[in-house]
Amino acid sequence: MKVTVDPDLCAAHGACMVICPEVFRIGDEGWAEVLVDEVPAELEEQVQRAVVQCPTQAISVTVDRSAHAD
Ligand code: SF4
Repeated sequence: MKVTVDPDLCAAHGACMVICPEVFRIGDEGWAEVLVDEVPAELEEQVQRAVVQCPTQAISVTVDRSAHAD
């Protein structure tokens, strides 16, 4: 799973960082940054929670289904 933050939508209050600091941080520009290319499986649930909790819907996730093929 990949995750991105739209800086045009981010209000930079940091809820995502509180929920999953391994994946999100507030960067020097003042907006949330994503720290990983690929979200580790054990953090996917937290990232999904950040998506729901983000008040401006700035976080998007993309699931690479081929990565889960048998
Ligand atoms: S929760 Fe959303 S608005 Fe808040 S810092 Fe994270 S991406 Fe930005």
